Amino acid sequence: MHEQYDVVIVGGAAVGSSAAYFLAANPDFDGTLLVVEQDASYQKAATTLSAASIRHQFSTAGNIRMSLFGTEFVRAMGQTLAVDGEQPDAGFHEGGYLFLATAAGLPVLQANHAVQRAEGADVVLLTPAQMLERFPWLNVEDLVAGSLGLSGEGWLDAYSLLRAIRRKAISLGAEYVQARASALLSLDGRISGVRLDDGRCIAAGTVINAAGNGASALAASAGIELPVHARKRCVFYFDCAEAVPKLPLLIDPNGAYVRPEGKGFIAGIQPDAGHDPDSTDFDVDWPLWEDVLWPTLATRIPAFEAVKVRNAWAGHYDMNLFDHNLILGAHPECAGLLFANGLSGHGLQQSPAIGRALAELIVYGAFRSLDLSEFSWQRVLENQPLREINVV
Ligand SMILES: Cc1cc2nc3c(=O)[nH]c(=O)nc-3n(C[C@H](O)[C@H](O)[C@H](O)COP(=O)(O)OP(=O)(O)OC[C@H]3O[C@@H](n4cnc5c(N)ncnc54)[C@H](O)[C@@H]3O)c2cc1C
Repeated sequence: MHEQYDVVIVGGAAVGSSAAYFLAANPDFDGTLLVVEQDASYQKAATTLSAASIRHQFSTAGNIRMSLFGTEFVRAMGQTLAVDGEQPDAGFHEGGYLFLATAAGLPVLQANHAVQRAEGADVVLLTPAQMLERFPWLNVEDLVAGSLGLSGEGWLDAYSLLRAIRRKAISLGAEYVQARASALLSLDGRISGVRLDDGRCIAAGTVINAAGNGASALAASAGIELPVHARKRCVFYFDCAEAVPKLPLLIDPNGAYVRPEGKGFIAGIQPDAGHDPDSTDFDVDWPLWEDVLWPTLATRIPAFEAVKVRNAWAGHYDMNLFDHNLILGAHPECAGLLFANGLSGHGLQQSPAIGRALAELIVYGAFRSLDLSEFSWQRVLENQPLREINVV
């Protein structure tokens, strides 16, 4: 490690490593690049604790576009992320998402469907009878419609994806150091580098804040308040004696989700707003399974009345409480620092689009492939939320 780099990225999980990869792979970037990551095992990163799924079914066009690119990126990763002839594979399974709606939720489902189709998402609205034809195990009694992704949506192994991106970035010249960035440094009104917790200072032309749930503390060290809070989300892995063939990632009208995982299934649900404090612990919320999630799943898919939970874990969304969307790019009062924070539970699939966008901001000073300016700080500072309503 040197004392000075053109770009220093704090946080080397999905977003930080994607930024490192897209910078290192850009023929117009010939600078030096350091990723500061406090934990090379990524045991507590949202990236590796996530449900690792990709959907195109969002309510805002920008989110759909980023996720469409996520699909494209993952489909091509065997070639683009190959190192020394080894083609990585994250096991992407295009099983689709199925969003279910009761009469109350129908207008929103239809409105979202129109936005998704306009953006080129391969989604279709189904009647209850059509759903039963495809998914005979489904209880459609209270449903009026469902929205199914026919291609491009699905799930993968997040750790394999991260490892492949990181490995490729390193092969192209990015350096990684295992250390915690304790503060941003500034000089003449601009961010000039980072201080590590062993006291070392690294100078940087540009710093990227890709620290996930560590992002708000890092921003605060430069006097900037990010509206990003860590919110615990639990994932439950279970077996079921009965088969549930062709189960997509199903979203119940109450927000519970379930999808196949290996020979079993994983499921989760947001706690209700009154029971969703800022959190840093990794304790599994078992009453959530017992009292809310399992009853929902067993009602929706009667085969799930007899299941056995094998494992469960907790991770944290970096939740942007302002509007549940990414905050991307520079803050007007803080030159030399780019943000990519507040991904609110959908950041794994969007990390390639975000990494590419950050690289373009650094190399060209503007977005080139996908205009993501609606995700800038401006909306936050002007109090104009870009609300994403499909937060799972
Ligand atoms: C339970 C759960 C389910 C999810 N399911 C999905 C899903 O199905 N699909 C999807 O797209 N997304 C999902 N997400 C969200 C997704 O995981 C995140 O949005 C995404 O991984 C964020 O990536 P990141 O790189 O910004 O943050 P993280 O993965 O949290 O990484 C941040 C990194 O920064 C490091 N760091 C933090 N502070 C410092 C510091 N000061 N110095 C050095 N290093 C630091 C951390 O060690 C960490 O490695 C889920 C998240 C959770 C918790």
